[in-house]
Amino acid sequence: MSKPSLVIVGAGLGGCMLAHALSDTHEVTLVERGAEVIDPRYPVIDVGKPAVTEPHFGAGLGGSTQLWHNGLIEIEEDIFATQWPLPKSALDPYYEQAFAPLSGVPLTVVREAIVALRRRYAELGVPDGLLQGLYYPQWPRNLWTSLKLQGRVKVVQADVVDIDVDAQDRVVSLTIDEAGRQRALAAEQFVLCAGGLGSPVLLQKLAARHPLPALRHAGFHYEDHPMGFVGEVQVTVPLYRLWNYRVPGTDGNLRLPLVVKRGGMHISFQLRPAAAYYRDSRRERVGSVLNDLRRNPWNPLTYLKLFKHWDDVLDILSFKFGIHLPTRHYTLLMCAQMPPAQTLSIWADGRTRKRDWRFTPAYEQDLRSSVADVLAWLAPITRSAREFPGWLDDLRTGAHHSGTARMAATADDGVCDTDCRVHGLANLYVCDGSVIPSSGIANTGLTIAALALRLADHLKARRA
Ligand SMILES: Cc1cc2nc3c(=O)[nH]c(=O)nc-3n(C[C@H](O)[C@H](O)[C@H](O)COP(=O)(O)OP(=O)(O)OC[C@H]3O[C@@H](n4cnc5c(N)ncnc54)[C@H](O)[C@@H]3O)c2cc1C
Repeated sequence: MSKPSLVIVGAGLGGCMLAHALSDTHEVTLVERGAEVIDPRYPVIDVGKPAVTEPHFGAGLGGSTQLWHNGLIEIEEDIFATQWPLPKSALDPYYEQAFAPLSGVPLTVVREAIVALRRRYAELGVPDGLLQGLYYPQWPRNLWTSLKLQGRVKVVQADVVDIDVDAQDRVVSLTIDEAGRQRALAAEQFVLCAGGLGSPVLLQKLAARHPLPALRHAGFHYEDHPMGFVGEVQVTVPLYRLWNYRVPGTDGNLRLPLVVKRGGMHISFQLRPAAAYYRDSRRERVGSVLNDLRRNPWNPLTYLKLFKHWDDVLDILSFKFGIHLPTRHYTLLMCAQMPPAQTLSIWADGRTRKRDWRFTPAYEQDLRSSVADVLAWLAPITRSAREFPGWLDDLRTGAHHSGTARMAATADDGVCDTDCRVHGLANLYVCDGSVIPSSGIANTGLTIAALALRLADHLKARRA
């Protein structure tokens, strides 16, 4: 049997994982437009709340996994139950399959460590309410490299600029722009993996000529995670061994965020060690140099900055070297769920994408109240606590762009069906952050990878 041809748009997390899973059974062509990880030809402009940190996404082979921290976490069951058109159990086997290629460790090992770590927190008197863990492998992975895709799939360096559909609602080809020359790229099946900021703009362009009901949702229902340091506490118990727990038998670390619920939203807080005596400004904590170091480890000036960022030094000692200095001071790092936006949030203006990220006053009030909640909740083990003034203005993007081509039971509510196929089109799928209807407070990478493996099984079954 000859292999069916499949074109994947975007060589980021979703695109690489899907290509990896289908390279034996399909003729896979990956179309990636990025020439470098931060490609100035395709900027994103924030017209609402600024991202605060740059960049919001990566380009080139590996996409945003070239920038990510590789923190892996499953979306909670109740988020699936209330926001997704399928139960978490439909994704569970794929979470397990996806975890090892992203981390080098089986998910079962991390799940056992989560149970053990919860017990140790409870023994120290930390009130119950810790979430499932966020696992960080020691070294982040660029998926293009770690999955060894070179030579296994065909790569076309080009910008996909349009989608061409026939009268039977089948995609026949994509229009691609290769260094200024446009041509059609035909295949039997197509998958958009252009990311939560990339796939919706291609779907909007298609909708202008082919106004299917599902496409009205492209660019709507946007979610991201606001993140930032909101306060600090001095605790009475030795948490320093637990906040960044080395999982036995692995080189990675586990963190259990504390979660409070406000306005139907989950709002999580991670305890991060604070060298409070060496820091006189909140900004020094907010302006962490860890990201700079990850992105550019060869610049000696960045290392000099560590002298003003003792919190980061504690972080590095613990994360990289397993040295836990016995601090009792911790800052609280918030990562919050946000309600899907009610208005259009992502659209294209030429090569530029515009992002309108904003909070309603009611949501801001929920965020403020959640800080009071978490401080009250930690009170039994707290000696002193304070909220940083003005933290709301410093909340930055989590770069977990989702919802903009969301999965929904019908075309009335979203772009894709439960197989990630665009409602109303026979052979067009979406598999990246944009398909996620809600992520709660979970980073989206593990879920995107699990969705890609599930879609791969679906496409193999269709072929059979
Ligand atoms: C600094 C940073 C840290 C992060 N840390 C974490 C973390 O710890 N854990 C976690 O789970 N997530 C993290 N994320 C988010 C995570 O990286 C993303 O959720 C994930 O990579 C998104 O995958 P994706 O497949 O949706 O898109 P991407 O990986 O962004 O890939 C999209 C690809 O499509 C290409 N593309 C777009 N449009 C077109 C077009 N028209 N034609 C051709 N190609 C196109 C882009 O160039 C890009 O390569 C982080 C993100 C950033 C920026």
